[in-house]
Amino acid sequence: MTDYALTHYEVLFADYASQPVFGFCQQDKSQRLRAILEELHRYHLSHCPAYHALFANMPVSFDDEDQLPFLAVRLFKLMDLLSVPKDAVFRELRSSGTTGQTPARISLDRQTSARQSRALVSIMQSFIGKQRLPMLIIDSPDVLKKPHLSARGAGIQGMAFFGREHTYALNSDMSLNVDAVRDFANKNRGKPVLLFGFTFMVWLNFVKALEHTGDSLDFSQGVLIHSGGWKKLSDQQVNNDTFKKRLTSVTGITRIHNFYGMAEQVGSVFVECEHGHLHAPSLADVIVRCPYSLVPLPFGKTGLIQVISAIPTSYPGFSILTEDMGTLLGEDDCACGRKGRYFSIAGRLPKTEMRGCSDTAGQS
Ligand SMILES: [Zn+2]
Repeated sequence: MTDYALTHYEVLFADYASQPVFGFCQQDKSQRLRAILEELHRYHLSHCPAYHALFANMPVSFDDEDQLPFLAVRLFKLMDLLSVPKDAVFRELRSSGTTGQTPARISLDRQTSARQSRALVSIMQSFIGKQRLPMLIIDSPDVLKKPHLSARGAGIQGMAFFGREHTYALNSDMSLNVDAVRDFANKNRGKPVLLFGFTFMVWLNFVKALEHTGDSLDFSQGVLIHSGGWKKLSDQQVNNDTFKKRLTSVTGITRIHNFYGMAEQVGSVFVECEHGHLHAPSLADVIVRCPYSLVPLPFGKTGLIQVISAIPTSYPGFSILTEDMGTLLGEDDCACGRKGRYFSIAGRLPKTEMRGCSDTAGQS
C-alpha cells in the first residue's frame, strides 16, 4: 500500500463545506462530491488494510458518484475498519444494534469529529435557526452515564449544542417527569423552544404519556427534531401523519422534523423539510439501489438506500449500503427551495439478510 495524504481532500472539503448547505443543484453537487470522494477512496485504500483487501482492484477515479465502491453497513460489526493509528482515536461510537448482535464500532479521530460537528451545525441551523433555544430533551439523563457512549447518547450530545437550559423530560425508568416538563413549559410559555428525542420515545414516553395524564402543553412556538427508526411505530400502525397530529394536539407544536442518519455517518443527516421530504445536504448524498441487482434505481422506485458522506476520514465510511429501504422522490425542485436530492424512507429490509456487495447481480 502506498501512502496517500489527505492534503488535497482537506482543500476541496474546506472550500465545499463553506458553501450553503442546500444551495447546490444536483449536477454541480455530484461533480464536487465525486472529486472529494475519490480522494477519500484513495486515502482509505492506502490506510485501511481491510478496505484495501476489499477494493484494491477497483479503479481510483470515477465518472459518477454512483460508481463509487460501497461497504455494507454490517461490515462495521464484523471488521476492524480503521484508517488512522489506534492512538489517534479519541472516541469510539457503538451503534445500539439489535439485541444479541455485536454492536458496530466506529472510531473517530479529532478531525473527523470536528467535521461532523461543523456539518451538523450548518444542517440543523437551516431548520431551527442560529439562536440557541431553551431545550427539552425527551430522554432520561442516564443515557449519558454509560461507560461507552451509545449512539443514542452521542445523538443527544450532538443535538444538545443547539439548545440551552437543557431539561430532561424523562425519569431513569423512562416515565414522564411531569414536574420537569410542566416547569419547562410554564417558564417558556409562548417562546421559541427546541425539543429533541428519538422517535419511538417521543411517541411512547411523551405523546402517549401526556395523553394519559391529560396534560396539554403550549409549545406553539417550538420546533421538534426527532430521529430513529419507524419500525416500532409502524408495528403500532402509527405513521408520520398520525405522529405529527397527535403530537400537535398535546403540545401545540407544528414545526416537526424527522431526520435520518446513522452512527456510521454522524454529521451528515437527512432532515425532513416543511413538505415532508428528507433532504440530502451538500456534504452527503443518497442513492437508491435495487436490493437484488444493486443497480441504481430512478425516482419513484423503492430500493436499498446507499448513503454517501464527505466527512469521515478516520474510518472508511464515506459510502455505505444501508439495510433501509427508501425512494428517491426528486432533485432540485422541492417546494421548500432546498436543492439536491430528496427522498423518503420505507422501512427496514425484511429479515435484513444481506448478501455480499458484488456477487448478487442477476440473482433474485
Ligand atoms: Zn423540501
